Order: sequence, then structure tokens, then C-alpha cells
Amino acid sequence: MAKEKINQELMEKIVSLCKRRGFVFPGSEIYGGLQGFYDYGPLGVEMKNNLKKLWWNWMTKEHENIVGIDGAIITNPKVWEASGHVKNFVDPLVECKKCHHRFKADDITGDKCSECDGLLTEPKIFNILVPSKLGVVEGEKVDAYLRGEACQTIYLDYKNVLDSTRIKIPFGICQIGKAFRNEVTPGNFLFRQREFEQWDLQWFCRPDEMEKWFEFWKEERMNWYKSIFTNPKNLGFYKHEKLAHYAKKAFDIEYIASPVGKEMEGIHWRGDWDLSRHSEFSGQDLSYADLETNEKFIPNIVETSGGVDRTFLFLMLDAYTEEEERIVLKLKPSLAPYKVAVFPLLKNKPELVAKAKEIYSDLKKEFTVIFDERGNIGKRYYSQDEIGTPFCITVDFDTLKDEAVTVRDRDTMKQERIKIKGLNSYINGKL
Ligand code: ATP
Repeated sequence: MAKEKINQELMEKIVSLCKRRGFVFPGSEIYGGLQGFYDYGPLGVEMKNNLKKLWWNWMTKEHENIVGIDGAIITNPKVWEASGHVKNFVDPLVECKKCHHRFKADDITGDKCSECDGLLTEPKIFNILVPSKLGVVEGEKVDAYLRGEACQTIYLDYKNVLDSTRIKIPFGICQIGKAFRNEVTPGNFLFRQREFEQWDLQWFCRPDEMEKWFEFWKEERMNWYKSIFTNPKNLGFYKHEKLAHYAKKAFDIEYIASPVGKEMEGIHWRGDWDLSRHSEFSGQDLSYADLETNEKFIPNIVETSGGVDRTFLFLMLDAYTEEEERIVLKLKPSLAPYKVAVFPLLKNKPELVAKAKEIYSDLKKEFTVIFDERGNIGKRYYSQDEIGTPFCITVDFDTLKDEAVTVRDRDTMKQERIKIKGLNSYINGKL
């Protein structure tokens, strides 16, 4: 089968699994949906929260000198003038004169439409900031923007962070937050949305240490992604040839096996560009006073800016596995929405159901657990495999005598007999 067709089929399978099992729903679907907007369902929100928690703990607990913020989505509109977004956050767009399909000019090689072979228009410029209005009186409303990238609030809070903590250079400020873009070509499920979430680290350092820190964060971030993907070999770097005027280099971390776009996170050399611009536009001194060396300078910045939703999509694609008799989502257990499923062997035996419920309630205090008594054991296993639950526990008649249960492993499908009182430590050990 042609690669394109395989890719398209894989995406369709993921989109359908996400909806059917409650990972991701199309936004406002009962009204016909809204392109580029999605909602995370009961399983999706568990997985996304697991993912964000892993990122946050890795940033703030496994590294020295990184603190977090949670900035507002709407800022003073001057921010977007200073950042250059009002003037430069534009996408040149071409439209097919025949079928009116729109394409990003950057993605087009010839002058013919790839959908219908029609002729394309000259590129037109579109600003992709999402505008908003503040105020209640018509005619007196003030123009504002939903933030086009989450990182700007970090620059705005940099001085407050310095003044309110004892942090010293080099240090980082991290944030997970929503960003909004009027994308010219929203689509490909979670890959290109108009509302999405970013995780950013801005690492503030001495200008003469940029090279060292850029290389450090580039490798560090790649290692983190490798630790959460089922198949780390599917990750790679893309080196940018076209650079922003303040950047010495730029790399993307890519999910190279992606059937749609590949970029997951950008590692950017921002130098002193952002703080200098905000200093200029706000009239505030944003320099850093180094008390040890008696120097004053604008810190330089290495940025790591990634997409939570794109990572989510790539993780799903990477974990999705079709085996002879089952579909299994081989997610890392730390990411799986449910860690454990508990079943009574037979649903019409009250003593088994009661014992299974007891175990379920106990485990629930520590893990995300699901209880299932529908259908037969085989069907329940396959249903859990499809959502990536790493462990299934079955309570049978022997349990009532020996206080032990059968634990079945998602990936190997091997079963082990484990004492009930040892279940928490057994699961924790595996996680
Ligand atoms: P692209 O070239 O794909 O438009 P970008 O280079 O503009 O992305 P950045 O501004 O560097 O992206 O944003 C950082 C990260 O935010 C990206 O690597 C991506 O993971 C995520 N991201 C950007 N735009 C979107 C979007 N429309 N939908 C979902 N995630 C996005």
C-alpha cells in the first residue's frame, strides 16, 4: 500500500480510537464542531495531566534553579508589538482559484493546486494572532489579543521572579499554558489547532555561556522525550537553516515517524532579543545585576518550547500497536490513563464482586483504577489493552481462600499470582 494511504489510515484509526474511548472529542460537536478546537475526554485528561506532571516535575525537581509561573492568557496589547507578533506573526497564504483550497505559501513548490490542479493566487499575508475585545460598552471596547505564544508572560514576569525569589543566574522559568493562533491551515487533528497548550522553559544565562547552555538543553530535552516514548528511535533533530536575526542556531525535536507534520519542540537561541525589546517598549530596566562580578547585563535566553497536544498525538501514534488478536496501546505506564483494572471473574457471584470492589477501593487511594464486570475476561483484557492499562487484576474463587489475585501484564500478557497485601508495592515497583 502507498505510504500516504497507510499514514492516512493510521491517523483515522487514532482519531477514531480517541473519540470512541474518550481520549479526545471534536470541540462543540453537537453544533457541527469548530475547526482547530478539541476537548480532552475522561481518559485523555488523565493522560494529559500525567504528561504535564512528568514535565513539570522533571523541570522543577530534577534540575537546579528552575521555578515555574502560570501567566494570564490576555496581556497588555503592547506586549505583542514589542514581541514583533503584530508586525511579523504572519503567514503568507495562497488560494486555489478553482477549488478555493488554501495552502501555506511555504508548503507550496509549484503554481498548481495539489488538490485539483487549478492555478494558485499570489501569496497574501495573514496575521495569525487571535484578537479579542475587552470592556462592556460598545464603542469603548479595547483591542487585546489572546496570547500567540505562552512564553511572553515569562519575559514579563522575569523581573518579578528575580525580586521575589533568591534565584541567581543561570536560572530557568518554566510554564505550561494555552496559546491561540488563527492558523491558516488548521487540521491534522491535534497537530495544528487554533487553541493549544505549550510547555516552555526560558533559561536565563550570561551571554558568554550561551553556547554551552544551548547544547546542554538541546540534549537534555531530547533525552526527556526519549524517556517518555515507546520507540525512542522515532525521535530526531531537525536543524534550521533559515534563522531569526538574533539566533545563532535553532533545532526542532521531531517525531520522525509522524504521518502528518513532525515538529514537537523548538530549541531556540533567543539571545537578548526578548528582554531588550520589552525593556525598550516598557521603559523598564530589565538588566541583571551580578553582585559577584559587579557586572550589569541583559541575560541571554535559551528557549525550549514544545507542544503538549502534539506530544500527546505523537505518543498515541507511537504506542498504537496492532497485534494478531488485539489492539494495544503500549504507553509508558506512567502515562497510561488507568494504571490498573480490577475484575471479578464472574459478575453474578456476589462474593467475588464484593472482594473485587474492596480491592478496587483500596487501590484507588493510590492509583487511577477502573472496575469492570462486563462481558468475559478475554473481552475485558482487550478493552483495557486498547486504552493502555498496564495491569489487570482478576479476583477468582481461590482469592477467597488464599488472599491472592491474578495480575496480567499488558505487554507480555503473562499472568502472576500476587498476594493482595503486596499489590501496591508490586504495582509501584513496575511503574
Ligand atoms: P509550526 O512551524 O508547526 O507552525 P512553530 O514553529 O510556529 O510551529 P512554535 O511557535 O515554535 O511553533 O511553538 C512551539 C511548539 O508549539 C511547536 O513546536 C508545537 O509543538 C506547538 N505548536 C505550535 N503551533 C501549534 C498548533 N497550531 N497546534 C498545536 N501545537 C502547536
